[in-house]
Amino acid sequence: MNASPDRIAWLEGGTAVCNNPPAKPTRPRRLVLLGPPGVGKGTQAALLSSALGACHLSTGDIFRAARDGDARKMSPGMRMAQDYMRRGDLVPDGTVLQLVNERCHCLTCAGGFVLDGFPRTVPQAKALDLLLLENGITLDGVIVYELPAAEIVSRLIGRRTCPACKAIYHVTSHPPKTPGICDRCQSRLVQREDDHIEAIRVSLGAYENATTPLTGYYRTRSLLVTIPAVGTPQEIFTSTLSAFKHAAVTRPSPSKSPFGAPLPAPYGD
Ligand code: AMP
Repeated sequence: MNASPDRIAWLEGGTAVCNNPPAKPTRPRRLVLLGPPGVGKGTQAALLSSALGACHLSTGDIFRAARDGDARKMSPGMRMAQDYMRRGDLVPDGTVLQLVNERCHCLTCAGGFVLDGFPRTVPQAKALDLLLLENGITLDGVIVYELPAAEIVSRLIGRRTCPACKAIYHVTSHPPKTPGICDRCQSRLVQREDDHIEAIRVSLGAYENATTPLTGYYRTRSLLVTIPAVGTPQEIFTSTLSAFKHAAVTRPSPSKSPFGAPLPAPYGD
């Protein structure tokens, strides 16, 4: 099996190119994932990307890659973005859109994409529409994952991540074999700065104010599919795939169908 696409062009921007670009599927899929912080979008994006052969494009990953990289290479805009991120607040649209525009080739890549964490505001969604329109590309669907706020807080407070290989754990629901140590690469696990309670409050507030209106924006365009983010990651992934099939079967016209035709086997069986 081929290794997952390395997403270097997306993470580094500029003239960086992927060493391992996605294979070109016959029917590239282009999806947007929405949902509050901690709902498991990143995990679902990774599962969907590998099922669809598309790249997992996360704007949060761009900010984290810059933070973990060479500090001397950080632009003033990126430095400012790090402060917003630490507080759990949204980075201003201008900065985010500049980063995404610089990486336009990732959105037009023949492998397709699963966008995770972008767009997060209506102006970002409008800018994405324009960028896709200019390149003759349409979105196949927008998935919104939903979960009660109390459950989100408990998920985020217990989340631990591996700074080296990026594996994600939870102190109670998915603990590492040795407390505080990554099973995969034995690095010491950390709690992300934005997983502390103050930052969680800020980011949930930002989601409510800025991102929730996006569901209305996409619903009116028949692109939205809502999935309760309850159960194991695999169960939620299975619900997402059934939504694909359901949407493909029940929508009147393929052009209006989120996800278009059913997925290829084994996912579409
Ligand atoms: P995420 O990993 O998607 O939760 O993103 C982590 C942080 O990066 C967010 O809390 C924001 O500070 C920032 N961020 C990521 N994507 C965006 C975006 N599309 N708009 C504004 N801020 C963003």
